[in-house]
Amino acid sequence: MSDWEEKAEIVIVGSGFAGLAAAIEAANAGAFPVTIVEKMPTPGGNSIYSAGQLAAVCSEQQMRAKIEDSVDCMMKDMLRAGQDLNHIDLLRRLVESSNETVEWTKVCLIWFCSRFIHVMHIILLTFSFIEGIGC
Ligand SMILES: Cc1cc2nc3c(=O)[nH]c(=O)nc-3n(C[C@H](O)[C@H](O)[C@H](O)COP(=O)(O)OP(=O)(O)OC[C@H]3O[C@@H](n4cnc5c(N)ncnc54)[C@H](O)[C@@H]3O)c2cc1C
Repeated sequence: MSDWEEKAEIVIVGSGFAGLAAAIEAANAGAFPVTIVEKMPTPGGNSIYSAGQLAAVCSEQQMRAKIEDSVDCMMKDMLRAGQDLNHIDLLRRLVESSNETVEWTKVCLIWFCSRFIHVMHIILLTFSFIEGIGC
């Protein structure tokens, strides 16, 4: 392995969805430069394989379709799918911020279909990116 020395205000490890979202937020907060390090030869991690589907509770899509949903209902769904092995605090954070995530994604000029996709959830809450999949 060759030596590498560089200074950066913020260093983000990993170039998947989580890393790129953190990089955008850091840049929006005024950090410069933001350096992303990636161990693989190409960026994107597992995120490049994502089917682009996002499950969110009380989304604009659900409101428009008049679908009643709740944090508790999505929690139950996810616990069932995870066979109760889920990390409960992280799960609650994910569920409670799911719609905020959709709205944040729109700020990045990524748009979603209004049509729902039936996956494992009891209530319709999953929709897909309009264009393409993955990063
Ligand atoms: C086929 C498939 C389809 C999917 N479809 C969906 C979907 O439709 N909807 C959905 O919500 N989720 C989906 N998922 C799950 C989703 O893709 C992952 O949850 C998400 O991509 C995880 O993002 P991440 O940024 O946490 O990890 P990753 O995208 O895996 O990124 C982590 C990155 O960190 C890098 N890294 C790790 N360690 C180091 C290190 N020490 N130094 C430098 N770099 C490092 C890795 O190489 C990688 O690039 C799918 C997953 C798969 C595999």
